Amino acid sequence: MVNAKSTFVKSDFENAAHELLQWYDQMARRLPWRLSPQARKNGDMPDPYRVWLSEIMLQQTTVPHAAPYFDKFTRLWPKVEDLAAAHNDDVMREWAGLGYYARARNLHKCAKVLAGLDAFPNTIEALLALPGVGPYTAAAVGSIAFDLPVAPVDGNIERVISRLMAIAGDGSAAGWAQDKKEITQRVQTLVPQRSGDFAQAMMDLGASVCTPKSPNCMICPWMDICLARQEGNQESYPAKPKRKPQPIRNGLAFVIFHEGKVLLQRRPDSGLLGGMLMPLSSPWEEGGEYTLEDYQPVKADWHYRGQARHVFTHFALHWDVYVAHLTKKPDLSGDWIDIDMCLEAGLPTVGRKALKLALDA
Ligand code: SF4
Repeated sequence: MVNAKSTFVKSDFENAAHELLQWYDQMARRLPWRLSPQARKNGDMPDPYRVWLSEIMLQQTTVPHAAPYFDKFTRLWPKVEDLAAAHNDDVMREWAGLGYYARARNLHKCAKVLAGLDAFPNTIEALLALPGVGPYTAAAVGSIAFDLPVAPVDGNIERVISRLMAIAGDGSAAGWAQDKKEITQRVQTLVPQRSGDFAQAMMDLGASVCTPKSPNCMICPWMDICLARQEGNQESYPAKPKRKPQPIRNGLAFVIFHEGKVLLQRRPDSGLLGGMLMPLSSPWEEGGEYTLEDYQPVKADWHYRGQARHVFTHFALHWDVYVAHLTKKPDLSGDWIDIDMCLEAGLPTVGRKALKLALDA
């Protein structure tokens, strides 16, 4: 197990923020929601709406995936009042493909709250009171938009700080919980006056230099003070418990065509993929054995088109896709969408995968 830290004299991290900010001044990524370090030095401050929107979008996804969504949202709804006034179906449709749809619902709810305030909340307490805003997002928005003296801590930053300060327990769940607490506390001691740039610099360092595998220590501004590098076992940090293999849930998808249209149903508002349009389906269960005979929504000449696979946070779905072309409109509830438009109807990724299989065949 990793724990050679006691053999090292702890570096002095006093200049860590200064070194990182010097690097950031040269190397900051250009991102659509970001103000350059130069603009910040000139006294410009970012629009908190854009910072908040980007942070919500970036949860659980990457910058290249989120950036086109950010562009689209800010084009359609340039101000928080515009987003608040949008129809919920439009917000969900434009969010489709970003995943974690509860976030889109909370985003819209939060926009309505924000639109009713005199100003964007600028304290951690007030940010935490907003729908869908947890400690990470509050710290990210608070530091980036208002230079509050806090550091957000996500998975990337945990990795960077655990390496910098050689924080690693025994790799158990309890050990990792303890490490996370220590990382969160100790990173706050590094926060400089330019806290927004510091937060973004840590994000950039984690994304482009201190990567999970093969960190590029030779170009890292913390190369000289990093304890994990001194130990030579950077990749052993952080010491997280091993992930259990994901359970697989099975199910059947039923794609029904009739007179140039396809039938989609909206899922209940709460729960997984809440409020999203999807093809009809059997339940999804681990080890579930569903037969066409028992679960078909309507008796028809069904044709198998392949398996749509999708990985959710807690399980993987193996969804067998069946297609039927009906001459008579079935007595089933749902929305009949033009076939040409159905892939643009705002389905979540897993729904699009099933529809694509049905359409390709
Ligand atoms: S020196 Fe290497 S391990 Fe340490 S923070 Fe930099 S990139 Fe990460």
